[in-house]
Amino acid sequence: MIAEILSVGTELLLGDILNTNAQYLSKRLADLGIFVYFQTVVGDNNERLKKAYDIAFKRADVVITTGGLGPTKDDLTKEIGAEYFGKNLILHEDLLEEIKGYFKKLNRDFVKSNEKQAYFPEGAVILPNENGTAPGCIIDEKGKMLIMLPGPPFEMIPMFENYVVPYIKKYIDGAIVSKVIRTFGIGESSMAEKVSDLIENMTNPTVAPYAKQNEAILRITARAKDEFEAKKLIEPIAEEIKNRLLDYVYGEDDDTLENVVGRMLLDKNITISTAESCTGGLLAAKLINYPGISKVFIEGAVTYSNEAKISRLKVKKETLQKYGAVSSQVAAEMALGIAKASNTRIGISTTGIAGPGGGSDEKPVGLVYIGLCIDGNVKTVRYNFSGDRQKIRERAAMYAIDYLRR
Ligand code: ATP
Ligand code: MG
Repeated sequence: MIAEILSVGTELLLGDILNTNAQYLSKRLADLGIFVYFQTVVGDNNERLKKAYDIAFKRADVVITTGGLGPTKDDLTKEIGAEYFGKNLILHEDLLEEIKGYFKKLNRDFVKSNEKQAYFPEGAVILPNENGTAPGCIIDEKGKMLIMLPGPPFEMIPMFENYVVPYIKKYIDGAIVSKVIRTFGIGESSMAEKVSDLIENMTNPTVAPYAKQNEAILRITARAKDEFEAKKLIEPIAEEIKNRLLDYVYGEDDDTLENVVGRMLLDKNITISTAESCTGGLLAAKLINYPGISKVFIEGAVTYSNEAKISRLKVKKETLQKYGAVSSQVAAEMALGIAKASNTRIGISTTGIAGPGGGSDEKPVGLVYIGLCIDGNVKTVRYNFSGDRQKIRERAAMYAIDYLRR
């Protein structure tokens, strides 16, 4: 089964909003083992929408649209879709009453133009909208399927999950199960190289790499007659991947690096404090994202100036003068200093040059040292990050969290 995602909305073309619907749908369709070869974006325009349907159905069995189901004149998706299938729009009295009821509930006046939302192509399957007024629908005929969903993500996602997934599952034989293996600290291509034979040769399960901000991911997808059998196919491959990628692997499925590290600190009851320079509190903020962390997270200091490093962390004046603030020596004294000051087992520090100015040949923009003090023993690591100020700070914070895991 090949699907195409057709995002409808001029605001997408103007760059006013990000096409998160296409991203969401692509991800979920991949989970279901449905291939997506094209994503298309088209404005709210009669002719171009017609053309987009035409092109999409030439190369896909299923077209999923989002947007343009509302009451206004420029909401055309359903009208043009019906026309494409040669269908009339017919009024569903019961839906009209429901929509009127929805307006009443929200204390809004029902305007005549809203009646449009109760008209559907003849024979279409109606998809209830539990979070808005415009229901979606499916036209399923002669081996072609048009699935029309609303634009707002909080309406689109529940409709997709609750009504579309059960509907299309009947076209997929057996069960499809995916497992995601998450790595940090290795690039997508280096990761893929280590498992290239699995990526290239496996057919069931399949192994596919992809990259997300700061992490490289492998998705294993298996098909079998039921979920249990599919999981049995996945497990040995997941083990093989973990054996090859070793401690680059930090988690699975919905894990995040912050959560894995937060859980580890809590489980082992290890107290921690942070001393940050270039990350300016980002590291502490990420750790504090984890619920319950207050049991072990004691203090986060943003010691941006040399004076603060001296007074709060007892970094030695001579160390700062001799090596400079961005140095392994200062990172080490910062980590030790905060651990002592807040009486924690772990102290972790960051110091670096986030740019755009302040770099030199010897210490370029992107140079970051991370210091880690565990029970009085201190070690440091040095990185040369690329990117702008924000990226460098973000990376420094994430690599610091990763350092806690190792
Ligand atoms: P409404 O009844 O709210 O008019 P609609 O189905 O007609 O819904 P649109 O008018 O196309 O949908 O879009 C409504 C809003 O939904 C947009 O302003 C935007 O905030 C959001 N939206 C639409 N398409 C997308 C998309 N592809 N990704 C993310 N958000 C979207
Ligand atoms: Mg609209």
